[in-house]
Amino acid sequence: MEVIIIGTGVFGLSAADHAHNKHPHAKLSIVSRPSRLAPSDDITKIARIDYSSTKRLQEAKIAYSQWKNDDFFSKYQRIIGRVMIYESGDTTHTDINEARQNLQLSARPAFGPELMEQIFETTSAPEALTYVYNDDDMIIDWQSCISQARQRASAACNGTGGRMYENGVKTLVHRDSRVTEIVLDNDERIEAATAQIVLAPGPWLAEVLAASAITLPPPDRTPTPTGLFSYIIQLRDDQAELFRQKPIVSHDGKVDFLPPASMESTTCKMTWIEPFTNMRGPPESRIKDLSRSALAKSHMLKAMEWARTFLPALHGARIISVTSYWDGVTATQDPIIAYHPEIQNLLCAAAMFQTTTAGIQSKFHFNMISHVSLVEATLLLWKRKPRKK
Ligand SMILES: Cc1cc2nc3c(=O)[nH]c(=O)nc-3n(C[C@H](O)[C@H](O)[C@H](O)COP(=O)(O)OP(=O)(O)OC[C@H]3O[C@@H](n4cnc5c(N)ncnc54)[C@H](O)[C@@H]3O)c2cc1C
Repeated sequence: MEVIIIGTGVFGLSAADHAHNKHPHAKLSIVSRPSRLAPSDDITKIARIDYSSTKRLQEAKIAYSQWKNDDFFSKYQRIIGRVMIYESGDTTHTDINEARQNLQLSARPAFGPELMEQIFETTSAPEALTYVYNDDDMIIDWQSCISQARQRASAACNGTGGRMYENGVKTLVHRDSRVTEIVLDNDERIEAATAQIVLAPGPWLAEVLAASAITLPPPDRTPTPTGLFSYIIQLRDDQAELFRQKPIVSHDGKVDFLPPASMESTTCKMTWIEPFTNMRGPPESRIKDLSRSALAKSHMLKAMEWARTFLPALHGARIISVTSYWDGVTATQDPIIAYHPEIQNLLCAAAMFQTTTAGIQSKFHFNMISHVSLVEATLLLWKRKPRKK
């Protein structure tokens, strides 16, 4: 048996782990072309158990336990908690509490701005908002975790007689309902007729399928490239010392502030979570580096204004890099993990995110494919019906 995985984001690496654990003697090859625009190449992530849908909360709970207890994952997380800020009238907090109680998890009380005052000492956080403390939320040192996972995948390739190709896929050649060859950007060709192929290129899924003249999923199941800007902030030594001990802060619908992920790091990250799409061109070619665009600047100004109000202790820190990250979002916001209905040896595995609750996906992405047998992944997911939030 031979497995070829395309993409070394969290989905591709999950698939590699799953395939190698389940079939240790199968020849594993991976085609990897990391991109600074891919969310899996981000530096830090949040892992948390708060979601207003009980089903997703259950998935998050399983994933959270993996982050906490698994020998490989646990060393990349720190339980530092998170302050959630909700606009007045937003019912998300009560919805999450209801879902948590359905799973015998404790409800979280709401506070006023004194919560920010207590934790951050100075703040001019407004009265009208609701402040909630999630004591069990984790920050993940994602860059280190992903880099180790890539090394592990590479070792699995070497150990099974396969190869790690440091290149992108240009097209998938197909004949008689099978992918027969994979053509790389440098025109190298990989024989694939007898292999199982996992296509996990995140928001580039439609691009690869379209370039290969392979039918795309139905429009509501095709991941649409959707972007967010993240700003890396260089802290002074005294600020780094302070923020390392502090929780994450998320203002629902506006911003995620992530402190330094490790005791050595002196940078933190702000993600302005107002999503954007690039409407130019067909959906499969909309991903562009927008980090120098006017939109990136205008969101950066909003992020700085937010920081002045909520985290004045950041005063004097410098933004040292801007990234436009792109994620693939499906209409139902469920990922697509399905064999292609017309191409027998092609499994598509692409992600989604939800701007306000982005904390959940990466945790279970690492586990999701190991919980869902690749062989059991059915066409149902290709045409999944919308479900209630
Ligand atoms: C700004 C931001 C912050 C987020 N924060 C969180 C968070 O805190 N917690 C959380 O759980 N989730 C978070 N998410 C969601 C999560 O990070 C993503 O859903 C997830 O990383 C997507 O993984 P993926 O493997 O599907 O895709 P990707 O990360 O896009 O990986 C796909 C890989 O395939 C490569 N590729 C593309 N085309 C080709 C090709 N033709 N050939 C070879 N390789 C190719 C890409 O370069 C990339 O390396 C966040 C998302 C964003 C955008």
